[in-house]
Amino acid sequence: MESKIKGFMDLVKQRNQNEPEFLQAVQEVAETVIPYIASKEIYNGKNILLRMVEPERVLMFRVPWIDDTGEIVVNRGFRIEMNSAIGPYKGGLRFHPSVNLSILKFLAFEQVFKNALTTLPMGGGKGGADFDPKGKSDREIMRFCQSFMSELFRHIGPNTDIPAGDIGVGGREIGYLFGMYKKLRNEFTGVLTGKGMSWGGSLIRPEATGYGTVYFAQSMLETKGDTLKGKTVAVSGSGNVAQYACEKAFQMGAKVVTLSDSSGFIYDEDGIDAEKLAYVMELKNEKRARISEYLTKYPSAKFFKSQRPWSVKCDVAMPCATQNEVSTEEAKTLLKNGCIAISEGANMPSEPGAIEAFQEAKILYAPGKASNAGGVATSGLEMSQNSLRIVWTREEVDERLQRIMSKIHNSCIKYGKQDDGYIDYVRGANIAGFVKVADAMLAQGV
Ligand code: GLU
Repeated sequence: MESKIKGFMDLVKQRNQNEPEFLQAVQEVAETVIPYIASKEIYNGKNILLRMVEPERVLMFRVPWIDDTGEIVVNRGFRIEMNSAIGPYKGGLRFHPSVNLSILKFLAFEQVFKNALTTLPMGGGKGGADFDPKGKSDREIMRFCQSFMSELFRHIGPNTDIPAGDIGVGGREIGYLFGMYKKLRNEFTGVLTGKGMSWGGSLIRPEATGYGTVYFAQSMLETKGDTLKGKTVAVSGSGNVAQYACEKAFQMGAKVVTLSDSSGFIYDEDGIDAEKLAYVMELKNEKRARISEYLTKYPSAKFFKSQRPWSVKCDVAMPCATQNEVSTEEAKTLLKNGCIAISEGANMPSEPGAIEAFQEAKILYAPGKASNAGGVATSGLEMSQNSLRIVWTREEVDERLQRIMSKIHNSCIKYGKQDDGYIDYVRGANIAGFVKVADAMLAQGV
């Protein structure tokens, strides 16, 4: 089996040189899915995984725009249309200076499995630009979004490819992108998700990724007869996902003690409650300030410059910032400090060595493609509401979200439960996602 995996990876490496993040994501899937394929006659000898790692289409385009000083700036835009076997391409847009082909291909690849897990008919895609929204004026953001959409619009559509937000793309950016799409097409459709409530958005969509991550953590703890109540939780990040993971966690009786951004993390021993979170939201969403500003209002908290929160004592960790933000060493520190569960709100936040450490210690570990699928699932619910031209209530959407997260958890158990009872959520998520997409691909021919 080892040589089969190695042979497959050698081929993928040869074809995708200088794409470390993409190769990391593929390796993780290959290690769990190749042995499964070998054991199933219907998938054997069809090169199905080899087809899955090749995007159906990669778009790369110039995004020129004029900054507030009058200078012409050029960024690079992308859309990876990875797999449309079970539905139109679906996945977010990321605006961040680190964006490149490797990062977007890893995200698009993960998205295929994640979207399949939601049980909704969505294929996988991802896009974005190496644009840095930090420090840009509102007008600059608008001009950039308009330029980006002036190329992207010809490749997307409500039945073709439906982008949404990701890092650096929130409600404001979706608004500017939607406005431009509408102008160019003269059509009001649900081509983007994460829209504003008065123009086709869904209630609970802003909260969904964070809430879903917490619902998933709760389901994992329940397999041990435990709950989140009274647990100390370390959350990283302070954007959309982290904010709502924090909210749902304290609503369920946990104590959230950390939040972070690229400048460092804050530690609040007393717990971040509703009032403190409202301040964080004001700081991050309106003032676009650093997380250290938290101390100006809550001076009893501590700020740890340029550090990540994994050194603190916690029962549950929720990495909600970005890829590879938990190293092997940090995973070992979390374990040493008694952490019993990891529910990932970000995509691929744990390095391979960290995942190995969690699984060797047999603690509850959920990969992002399972635990953070609530965001895209609720995007799917937004698409349904747009198609039906109706609006569901908060309760209706939240109930559907909870049901979907619970189904994802069940799928992980179905394919991931081992003989000794340990649930390998990585294996479970990868195989469950694979089976759904592979069956559709086989049915549709080469
Ligand atoms: N960017 C989110 C993710 O990683 C959401 C994508 C979407 O809603 O389409 O799943």
